Amino acid sequence: MKTAHGSSPVYLDHAATTPIDPAVAVAMSACFAARADYGNASSNHIVGRRARAAIDTARQELGLLLNAQPQDLIWTSGATESVNLAIIGAARFRAHRGRHLITMTTEHKAVAESFDALEKEGFEVTRLSPGVDGILPLSDLEAAMRDQTQLVSIMHVNNETGVIQDIEAIGTLCRSRDVLFHTDAAQSVGKLHIDLEALPVDLLSLTAHKFRGPQGIGALYMANRPGCRVAPLLHGGGQERRLRPGTSALHQIIGIGVAARLAQNRLAENLSHVTTLQARLWRGLNGVSGITRNGCAESHYPGILNISAEGVEGESLMLALEPLCVASGSACNAQSGEPSFVLKALGRTDLEAQSAIRFSYGPETSRSDIDLAVKLYRSAVSRLRTIAPDAAA
Ligand SMILES: *Cc1c(COP(=O)(O)O)cnc(C)c1O
Repeated sequence: MKTAHGSSPVYLDHAATTPIDPAVAVAMSACFAARADYGNASSNHIVGRRARAAIDTARQELGLLLNAQPQDLIWTSGATESVNLAIIGAARFRAHRGRHLITMTTEHKAVAESFDALEKEGFEVTRLSPGVDGILPLSDLEAAMRDQTQLVSIMHVNNETGVIQDIEAIGTLCRSRDVLFHTDAAQSVGKLHIDLEALPVDLLSLTAHKFRGPQGIGALYMANRPGCRVAPLLHGGGQERRLRPGTSALHQIIGIGVAARLAQNRLAENLSHVTTLQARLWRGLNGVSGITRNGCAESHYPGILNISAEGVEGESLMLALEPLCVASGSACNAQSGEPSFVLKALGRTDLEAQSAIRFSYGPETSRSDIDLAVKLYRSAVSRLRTIAPDAAA
């Protein structure tokens, strides 16, 4: 693929979606090629059993990545569906005990809008703001808890800033109050070490295409504990313990299984690679005047770097950066033209939020990709500032 500049795109938008791993694509193609050998996992014949075996293998592979029991994983179409099932499903399942729920203001829209939907059903939702570093103070969460509180949903890694919340401390607090804890881990699964045997997490949402798997497949982890249960959103069959019925998407499930195995094998290596890249990128940009790093430098996934620059407008900057593929603010807000609500929650002004660029990179990003990003960013910022000198005012 060539851009208008005639050069190949340099893809620094891994937080939106990652390139699929070639080995995942091969495994999925093999499944298509041998379709007659697989079939419908619900059928009680040889071909159906083969499909079931392939699905069991994938569930084990994902279970190994998370140190979770395979039977505690429910296949879904991705993190959006997992989040809906976790939040709406758990709230409805526990509604007879109480109707108060807690989340925070910097969550992904899948979470925010699931809570909006529950408010229309008569649930009461508290939305906590993080500090300027993006981190939710535990004491604020504790203060917001009531006898009626049934569910807390706080994301693991933020998709815009990379900020990491302390899900262990949050989960421990929730357990001590008999409140369910859900975390949207779409940005951390396959990238950060997650041990669900050790972590006090009841529900966890993930999606394959954020860790080099295919789009359209994800999972919900549901701990095998009393009271931890969701009411299904879909009806129609016995698949996935009746919690998510519908014919299992075999090729997708094979894809997420292979992606999970590869992510597990390369977790440390990949993390150290993006750490090196982040240091290089920040070192390169640090000298540019009037730039701020959004988020928290300490509790931070190093594969995402979000930067505001005084006196420039993010959308123009993004176009000026071609052939770099980056996000301005958030990919999810790009159509609306609104400043990112996540950055505003961190105390950024409209202008600061509008000037934000999110760089996100992964295992196949090279040092020279980062060097190109630094070069293009520096020249684009100074060019845009010359064109619009009073935008900084
Ligand atoms: C990408 C993402 C989602 C949605 O994942 P889909 O696969 O598009 O459903 C949800 N939450 C976060 C934090 C994400 O980054």
